[in-house]
Amino acid sequence: MGTATILSLFFGRSKPQFTGTDVFPLTDAIMDFDDSSEGSTRPARRETDASKPVGKRSNAQKWSIATALIGLFMLATLGFHALDMVRLSTVYVLAGMAAFFMLAFFAVFKTGQHFRFREKRLKLPIVATALGCMLVVVYLEPVMQILLAPFSFVALAYGMYRISRAKAFVLAVGLLAGYALVIVLHHAQQQNEALLRLEILHFMALAASLPAFAFLTGKVQMLHRILHRASRKLKNIQEDAQRDTLLGCFNRRYIVAALEEQRQLADETGIPLCLAVIDLDHFKRINDELGHLGGDEVLRSFARVAQENVRAGDLFGRYGGEEFLLIFPATALLPALNTCERIRAQVESHAWKGLPKSRVSVSIGVTQYIPGESVLEFFARADTAMYMAKEGGRNQVVVEEPVVKGDPSVSVQMLGPASI
Ligand code: GH3
Ligand code: MG
Ligand code: MG
Repeated sequence: MGTATILSLFFGRSKPQFTGTDVFPLTDAIMDFDDSSEGSTRPARRETDASKPVGKRSNAQKWSIATALIGLFMLATLGFHALDMVRLSTVYVLAGMAAFFMLAFFAVFKTGQHFRFREKRLKLPIVATALGCMLVVVYLEPVMQILLAPFSFVALAYGMYRISRAKAFVLAVGLLAGYALVIVLHHAQQQNEALLRLEILHFMALAASLPAFAFLTGKVQMLHRILHRASRKLKNIQEDAQRDTLLGCFNRRYIVAALEEQRQLADETGIPLCLAVIDLDHFKRINDELGHLGGDEVLRSFARVAQENVRAGDLFGRYGGEEFLLIFPATALLPALNTCERIRAQVESHAWKGLPKSRVSVSIGVTQYIPGESVLEFFARADTAMYMAKEGGRNQVVVEEPVVKGDPSVSVQMLGPASI
């Protein structure tokens, strides 16, 4: 019988709803559209997953895109220079402008000045600056107008997600106005009829196509917005699906998947893994005394106390009713035992609303994973230790040391039932 089959029998499902390794693949794909820079205040999607959230581009990546686009324009200009169509001084002017404005924007971002603007990525000023620089180059070298049309589309596409349709139109009109001014200046300075006709042709081509492009970017932006909103909603649904609605800690579905995932990780890496099963003592009586709503409040407070006493990497979740699982990734038995004892002591000394001190207590069973064993065997050992804590008088931690199969040198060692 495979692990999945045993799991399904054990955890009461006909088939596992998801495995530890491919939880919510659909949302991962959709989340690629969430490129918001503003971080969420909600807890990380999967605390077992050390990787950074999907879809978030680092600052370096964002800068590298802008730099690559500028580099492409520079490369094309160098090509023109190699063909003797552009002077070296123009290449220097272009390089100077690129360096100056990149440094200026870098300083703005570094000093946090961009937070003063509604659109914090400053796509509109960046694209406007790029278009302005291109116009300067066209003014210096009329032949560079060959690059103006394609690269103005590239610049507008760069700001596509952030620049509204109306602002894209304004940018297009601004570019056309600037280009018209360059044509007038060229004609005034050179009186070259052939150049004038060519530039007017280029102008007409741009005037016909740029507004259409601005219109289409609005459509792409709308699609991006819809996907962004859907990705946010899916993220919330995903996080809610991991949480116990009453207590806010991880729910059974998540904690069981996390246990299987951590077991696989321990098998692959050989690092230790521990598990504790925690059960509130005589909880029926607490319900009888406080009513079910009062009992719910005790459960909520207990979940808070427990989570305050575990490390960031530990995984705490409700297995069902008043039973909880606490997974200790990369932790040996002794530190896991210490944490369990700390939780037990904190629960005992906590001031419970409407109840006398020490009225609420927990019985905890804790054990360490034996490489190669099934999740069922691992869980059963911790569960047995918890029941031994109950039999031993409750309000105690019992550890069941792992027994390595076929190794006669390792024997069962029960520290419980005894308080530690
Ligand atoms: P023991 O020390 O042996 O664990 O005794 P117990 O009374 O805690 O254990 P038992 O399993 O007999 O009863 C558990 C009780 O927990 C019964 C159930 O009504 C209560 N319970 C389970 N889930 C909830 C919940 O979400 N809210 C409240 N208020 N009570 C719950
Ligand atoms: Mg109980
Ligand atoms: Mg119970």
